[in-house]
Amino acid sequence: MNTVFSYWEMNRFDEPIDFTIIGSGFTGLSAAIHLKMTYPRKRVVIMERGVLPYGASTKNAGFACFGSISELEDDRTHMSDQEILDTVRMRYDGLLTLRSLVNDGHMQYNSCGGVEVYDSKVQFDEAYAQMAFWNDALHDITGGLTFKVIENSLPHFYPKAIKNRYEGALHPAHAIHSLWALAQKLGVEFLCATELKSFEEHTDFVNLNSSLHIPIKTKQLLLCTNAFTENLLPDLDIKPARNQVLITKPLAINPLDSCYHFNKGYVYFRAIHDRILLGGARHISTQENTAAYGNTDEIQQYLTTFLAQHIAPEAEIEHWWSGIIATGAAKKPLISKRSDKISFGLRLSGMGVAIGTLVGKRLAELHIE
Ligand SMILES: Cc1cc2nc3c(=O)[nH]c(=O)nc-3n(C[C@H](O)[C@H](O)[C@H](O)COP(=O)(O)OP(=O)(O)OC[C@H]3O[C@@H](n4cnc5c(N)ncnc54)[C@H](O)[C@@H]3O)c2cc1C
Repeated sequence: MNTVFSYWEMNRFDEPIDFTIIGSGFTGLSAAIHLKMTYPRKRVVIMERGVLPYGASTKNAGFACFGSISELEDDRTHMSDQEILDTVRMRYDGLLTLRSLVNDGHMQYNSCGGVEVYDSKVQFDEAYAQMAFWNDALHDITGGLTFKVIENSLPHFYPKAIKNRYEGALHPAHAIHSLWALAQKLGVEFLCATELKSFEEHTDFVNLNSSLHIPIKTKQLLLCTNAFTENLLPDLDIKPARNQVLITKPLAINPLDSCYHFNKGYVYFRAIHDRILLGGARHISTQENTAAYGNTDEIQQYLTTFLAQHIAPEAEIEHWWSGIIATGAAKKPLISKRSDKISFGLRLSGMGVAIGTLVGKRLAELHIE
C-alpha cells in the first residue's frame, strides 16, 4: 500500500510502541491480552497482514482436542513419552486457558468428546492394546479415565471405537472474535492489512519494515506467525502443511454427533449445525507441503470418496477451503526469546485451537518482569 499519511497519522506511528505482536490468531491475541492485562498502561499493538485474521485460527475444524490413541502412538516413533505427555499437558491446559478467556456459549463450546474410529478389527485392537497405558499416563493431566471403548454407530467403520471423554468442539471464528473483542476492550491496538516484511534490531528498539512503507519502532517484538514464518526466521524448524476441508449442504438427518478422528488424526470430521465438516488427508500427497492456500483434485477426490463411502453417501458438498498448519521434527511448540527484544511462539502442529492461547500466554510471560 502506498498511502500518503497525514501529519497526525505519522505522529501516531512515531509514538513509542512497547510491544508489537505479529499475527492475530489464537497465539498472537492471547499474547497481547496477557501483556495488556499485566501492563495496562503500556502500548500493545497487533500487526496482522489480513483485513481479518488470515491464518489457521479461523480456517480449522474447531476440535478442542489433545490426542487420539493412534496419533499418540504415532508420536512415539519420533518423540519420547515424556515429551508427548508434556505436549498433551500443554494442549489440555491450553483448552482451560482458552475457556478462561472466552465464555463457552460465545464460542459454542460443546463437550461432546472426541471419537477415534477404525477401518478394521486389527486397527481397533492395536489402539485398544495401548488404551490402559494412555489412561494411566494421562490420569495426572485429566484427573480421570480419558479413553473408553464405545459402540460405534457409523456403519462403514469397525463397530467399536475409542472415545476421549475430555475433548470437545467449538466455533473457531466465534472464539477468535471474542478474543479480539477482549483485546480491544483492554486497549490493544490493531494494525490490519499490514504485513511485516523484515525487521532490524537496534540498541534500544526493533525497526519494523512493513507493507505500510513507514518505519515503525517497537521496544519488543513477538512473532506469532506460525506456518508463515519462513521469510522472517528462516533458520527455525518450521514446515508449512496445507489442510483441505469441505462442508456439506444441510442433511435431513446428521449421522454424526461428535468429533471424529481417523488414521492418526490425518482425517477428521464432525457435525456442525446440520452439516458435516470433513478435512485432512495431507498424508496422501507431498503437494500439501506448502504455505499456499488452495485445493487440489487429488485431495478433493480422496475426501469426496471418503465422505461417500464412510460417512454419508447421500451428502452433497457445498463448499471447500484450506488452511495452513506448522509442523516440524517434533510436535512441541517453539516458545523462545531470540534476544532481549525479540521472541517467538510458533509451530503449533495442528493442535493450536487447544494450545494456542497457552503458547501466547507463555510467550507474553517471557516479556514480563
Ligand atoms: C484445516 C485446519 C484444521 C485444523 N483443525 C484443528 C482442530 O480441529 N483443532 C486444533 O486444535 N487445531 C486445528 N488446526 C490447527 C490450528 O488452527 C492452528 O494450530 C492454530 O490456529 C495456530 O494459531 P496461531 O495463532 O499460532 O497461527 P495462525 O492462526 O496461523 O495465525 C498467524 C497469523 O499471522 C498472520 N501473519 C503471518 N505472517 C505475517 C506477517 N508477515 N505480517 C503480519 N501478519 C502475518 C497471519 O495472517 C495469521 O493471521 C487446524 C488447522 C487447519 C489449517
